[in-house]
Amino acid sequence: MQDTTTSNAPSIDITAVRARFPVLHQQVNGYPLVYFDNAATTQKPQQVIDALTRYYNDYNANIHRGIHTLAEHATADFEATRKAVQAFIHAREAEEIIFTSGTTGGINLVAQTYGRTFLKKGDEVIISTMEHHSNIVPWQLVCEQTGAVLKVIPITTSGELILDEYKKLLSDKTRLVSVVYASNALGTVNPVNTVIRLAHEAGAKVLIDAAQAVVHCPVDVQEMDCDFLVFSGHKLYGPTGMGILYGKRELLEAMPPYQGGGEMISEVTFARTTFNELPYKFEAGTPNIGDVIAMKRALEFVSNLGKPAIAAHEAQLLERITAGLQDIPGIRIIGTAPHKIGVVSFVVEGLHHFDLGMMLDAKGIAIRTGHHCTQPLMDFLGIEGTNRASFAVYNTPEEVDYFLDTVGQIVRKRK
Ligand code: PLP
Repeated sequence: MQDTTTSNAPSIDITAVRARFPVLHQQVNGYPLVYFDNAATTQKPQQVIDALTRYYNDYNANIHRGIHTLAEHATADFEATRKAVQAFIHAREAEEIIFTSGTTGGINLVAQTYGRTFLKKGDEVIISTMEHHSNIVPWQLVCEQTGAVLKVIPITTSGELILDEYKKLLSDKTRLVSVVYASNALGTVNPVNTVIRLAHEAGAKVLIDAAQAVVHCPVDVQEMDCDFLVFSGHKLYGPTGMGILYGKRELLEAMPPYQGGGEMISEVTFARTTFNELPYKFEAGTPNIGDVIAMKRALEFVSNLGKPAIAAHEAQLLERITAGLQDIPGIRIIGTAPHKIGVVSFVVEGLHHFDLGMMLDAKGIAIRTGHHCTQPLMDFLGIEGTNRASFAVYNTPEEVDYFLDTVGQIVRKRK
């Protein structure tokens, strides 16, 4: 297995890309690391690591409230990331970008502010069968708190939303629809524009979970016309512990704050507190300054390569791995929608996913095994979990071939 420039993706020099990821250049259990666990978290390019180190080495300071040089430097860089995110997802205003702890943090924020304020008994919230737990549990909690009812869009066995059923669920009781753009467990890319349009026709607001999609699929929040969109930095070559909530200004204005304290206030007296303007109203306490600053470098990394070029490269890897897995007897691919991101889930007859995961790890290959935080989806599919390989821009066809050879040997040896 070699680290080569793939001729299949002419616009990206994969060797040069890989050179920017220090973690990739190591042996694991005596074999070159093959990192196929990118849907869980991507690796970080040197420029992201450098930005983080530079902040802590050179200008670590708390933001927004200092008048000294270091605080001004940190504040400027922190706010520069907000503008970079605005451009990246094409939001109308930087004030519509709220920094959170991640996708989960963003969904909980919307559930506990928008949901808790505007949902009442008998209202309905719609999610889908393929949601991550992070887009199920916050809605269950707020439904319990408000008396609203959770409805679930069914999917096909190939892993696609059944839009006719979705249409039947929509009614004048529907207040909010919250669906995943691209499934972390199946790879399915959902027709979110249609989902949003239909929800709006029914008078409902829409939250899009773009945790997986934001790095692979087009995201233009104005064009999509979604009301909220959430994602995590760490799945987009950025740091852990930071994420983004996009919300339309009028909705964010109408929502009460989530947590209290720090910069989210305008004025505090014991009698009454008034709240700060957007976006600070939703950013209580000292935020994750270093990671937010470093995130700008991750966005630049993706923008410089170009999302379409990244997606094209990953699509070739997906095609290669799918064809290869289909040739191995006893393997069943889970999730066969025609439009997928670079994620392949599969089960092997008679071989538990944990066992395969450990055998692959012994050969230097990192995949994810289990239910992928989508237990209701696994229940629907009648399985306990899957083996999941997921790609990033630095993966190569040679890695896919090594993976397929290794899986093939393991599976055939057991027969
Ligand atoms: N939604 C989807 C589709 C995901 O894939 C994930 C993470 O795997 C999440 C939500 C939760 O993301 P985080 O753990 O970064 O908050």
